[in-house]
Parts: sequence; structure tokens; C-alpha cells
Amino acid sequence: MSVPSRVLRLGVAFATLPAAVLVGPAVAAPSGAAETSARADARPAVVERVVFGQSRRGRDLVAYRLGDPGARRSAVVIAAMHGDERKPQVILRTLRDGRPIEGLDLWIVPNANPDGVARKARRNARGVDLNRNFPRKWKRSKRGTTWSGPRAASEPETKAMMRFLRRVAPDQVVSFHQPLYGIDTSGTGNRPLARRLARHLKLPKRSFSCGSGCHGTLSQWFNHRLDGQLVTVELGRRPSRAYLTRTAPHGLLKALGGRRV
Ligand SMILES: [Zn+2]
Repeated sequence: MSVPSRVLRLGVAFATLPAAVLVGPAVAAPSGAAETSARADARPAVVERVVFGQSRRGRDLVAYRLGDPGARRSAVVIAAMHGDERKPQVILRTLRDGRPIEGLDLWIVPNANPDGVARKARRNARGVDLNRNFPRKWKRSKRGTTWSGPRAASEPETKAMMRFLRRVAPDQVVSFHQPLYGIDTSGTGNRPLARRLARHLKLPKRSFSCGSGCHGTLSQWFNHRLDGQLVTVELGRRPSRAYLTRTAPHGLLKALGGRRV
């Protein structure tokens, strides 16, 4: 079912909403939202913009809701949890800034680690690898590239992401990384989502073991604690512009069950 353009125009796009209303109806517009801003017009795919937390340095963690809030299928797509893996952000921004989407209630988080992205660094401002900080099989580790933090879920970015995913409760989650080149099938087995992503994103199915074994990853936490399925997607080191702006956005929508209007 397509979202009527009236809803897209009068929705709560670009209002900064408290997290409490995050899963509220997209058309429950606060006062003033009927005025369509030039910015909202420039992004007809965006139904809602939500600040769901802050980074350690106080930068906003932003999610955009695209597509049809009433659709049967839902998905969250995350990029840049490691701040030096920024190419996948192009895919998410392409979807956000493109034509409206239908058939899918799609949320995107283009920047899951704004402090890391600002410094072009893997870890957050405290030096924690956010993809080792989730409270599932969390393990203490030495400070360094994959420091898991002083304790499980010690970081504001981790806690905010957990709260966000619990509230949205998506059927499908895609978490983008680089540069290992493949769809991670470890922990997801032969699940249909991994197969569809491999086919439509034109990537091989592989099993990534996080180097010394996975501990406290978003994937481990989500796939154990919530009902949907999360698949980690690793792009290569230098995906082409055409791949990031055409092949991948189109393939991602197809794999998740949505399409552009
Ligand atoms: Zn990564």
C-alpha cells in the first residue's frame, strides 16, 4: 500500500521528537507540522525523523523513517557503527534523499557512531568498539582496536540503539560494515534474509568470526533477545559510486520487501 502524498507532506518529518513518541502514529503531527518545510519537500521519502539518543560527546543519534508506517514488513538499516567504515552511509542517504518508498516500514540510522565518524575512527569518543559493547556474550578485553568497554552496554550509543530497536521491534535489521566483503551467515544460518541480501546486494555469503571470536556484538544481542533477524553486511574497501548509489539501494529495498514509488 502506498503512503498518500498528503501523509508524507503533513507527517512529522523533521520534527525532533522525544523517544517516547517514537512508535506513535506517523500522522499524529504536532502543531506546526502542517507547514511543509523546504527541507521536507526535498526529502519526500522521509515520513519521520527521530533523535533517539546522544553520543558520548553529545552528538544526536538520528533515525529516519521512510516508506509506509502501516506496511506489514518492517526493517531497520544501520551504518557506521564503526566510524571509519563510512561508505555504506552513501546507500542510506541515497534511500533517504530519493523517491518515496512503499511496501515496507523502513527506518534508517545513517550514523550509529557520530563521534567516531567525526574523527574517522572505528571506536567512539571513549575508545570503545561499540560492536563489542552489547550485553550478549560480552567479554572484558584490552584497550585497543576492539576494546569492549568497562562493562556491557557502558556506552550511551549502545544503550540508545538497544532502546531504539526494542521500541521499533523490526522484523529485519541490516547492519553495514566494511571491508570484509560478504553477507555474514554466522549466527543467522541459512535464513531467508541473508540469502536475499546476498542475491540482491551481489555479495557472497560468508562466515565472519570477528577475528578472535565475536563477543558483545549487536548481531549477537539482537538475534538472541529480539524476535526479528539481523544480518551483518560487509562491503568491500572501495565499493564504486554506482554500486553505492544505484545497485545497493535498489537491491537493499528489494531484499527487504520494499520498492520506490
Ligand atoms: Zn565494522
